[in-house]
Amino acid sequence: MSDVADRAEWRIAKDIENAMARARKMPQLVADGHCHYCDEQIAHGFLFCNTDCRDDYQSEQEAKRCAGR
Ligand SMILES: [Zn+2]
Repeated sequence: MSDVADRAEWRIAKDIENAMARARKMPQLVADGHCHYCDEQIAHGFLFCNTDCRDDYQSEQEAKRCAGR
């Protein structure tokens, strides 16, 4: 009766694999007190001043990745 345990282990491994793939796609950003998109000064620990900037930044990165191919 090791079927269930085997499947659970497989799922966990798959989850880790997916998370790592996502982390590789998203370059590590350092929170330096400035919005990474519009360069506005923001509270320390934040990467973007709002969700619009985050979304725009992400779509810009995606566009760059596509263009780089
Ligand atoms: Zn911004």
